[in-house]
Amino acid sequence: MSETLRCIGCGSVIQTDAPGEIGYTPKSALEKGLAAGEVYCQRCFRLRHYNDIQDISLTDDDFLRLLNSIGETEALIVNVVDIFDFNGSLIPGLHRFVGANPVLLVGNKVDILPKSLKRSKLIHWMKEQAREAGLKPVDVCLTSAKRKHEMAELLEVIESHRDGRDVIVVGVTNVGKSTLINSIIDTVSGVRDVITTSQFPGTTLDKIEIPLEDGHYLIDTPGIIHRHQMAHYLGKKDMRIIAPTKEIKPKVYQLHSGQTLFLGGLARFDYLRGEKSSFVAYVSNDVSIHRTKLANADAFYDKHVGGLLQPPREAERESFPELVRFEFSIKEKTDIVFAGLGWITVTEPGIVAGWAPKGVTVVRRRALI
Ligand code: GDP
Repeated sequence: MSETLRCIGCGSVIQTDAPGEIGYTPKSALEKGLAAGEVYCQRCFRLRHYNDIQDISLTDDDFLRLLNSIGETEALIVNVVDIFDFNGSLIPGLHRFVGANPVLLVGNKVDILPKSLKRSKLIHWMKEQAREAGLKPVDVCLTSAKRKHEMAELLEVIESHRDGRDVIVVGVTNVGKSTLINSIIDTVSGVRDVITTSQFPGTTLDKIEIPLEDGHYLIDTPGIIHRHQMAHYLGKKDMRIIAPTKEIKPKVYQLHSGQTLFLGGLARFDYLRGEKSSFVAYVSNDVSIHRTKLANADAFYDKHVGGLLQPPREAERESFPELVRFEFSIKEKTDIVFAGLGWITVTEPGIVAGWAPKGVTVVRRRALI
């Protein structure tokens, strides 16, 4: 290749010789990409189109070196998280990697939470959750990468904490970091070719550098892959169903103990013990919810998964992981969170169980809403 081509997903230099190494793309795919004006390396292409995660994971040396280099450079660290999948988008051990650098926590996708939820309440909740995870952000803010008008406000917050330093943006995949970076570029310049790239010292990972006014840079890092997300078990079509694109309409259920809710065929919620009370499901409006008797729930699932209970689709049924059960004793208003899919708020004390495909976590947290 005569000129250096870079992947528009992660910024790696595109190469066609070494499969399995950073920046690899097959020659045929490269030609198609060039024709379409969008060249991705194979890893980013698969990630975007099939949610097929290739080799590189958080434990890989390169990512560890990347995270370490974040602590060695003096910078403001901007950690982008998806507020719809807060637990699934935290970076394990980030507080250890950042060293003395301040962290600004940015909750993206605020557009999908109910408008009735006050921003101040959400910010308070994020602070509390961050603290529990050992992160002590200097500030917490909300944004929507899809709304260009929010970028100016976000940039102002960044500027107020930057103190003449570089800005390093980090996040796990799927939180909307690329969308956010693109919106920022549009806002600061309106032109794409301001982006320069360079390598993280001692790694094969490339960073994208967006020049700021005072000679410093806003640096985008490759997305870090988090394996416990529902996204890794579903195809592209199903991701469109489960990832909310507009404001979620909460669905309220009055349940007696001994009743079960199925969230498509992806997750299951059992009410085991307690008084009749309200349960509120916060999932994409396109995920259908079915109520049934707990006693029949196993048989109901076996009979209907792939059919009435979708996703997964009939064709995916065979390869779809079995559902694994987690039991919780509830004392106060609590969310039972199905990583990447959403959550069910339990309003009264009782005992419940949450089921998710093997590999996806179900956790409890203090109720967000
Ligand atoms: P990355 O892997 O972190 O770079 O994430 P992407 O930028 O590729 O975004 C992942 C998905 O989230 C895409 O389907 C985006 O369209 C969607 N997304 C990104 N930002 C927002 C947002 O502010 N609101 C909503 N509703 N969706 C978003």
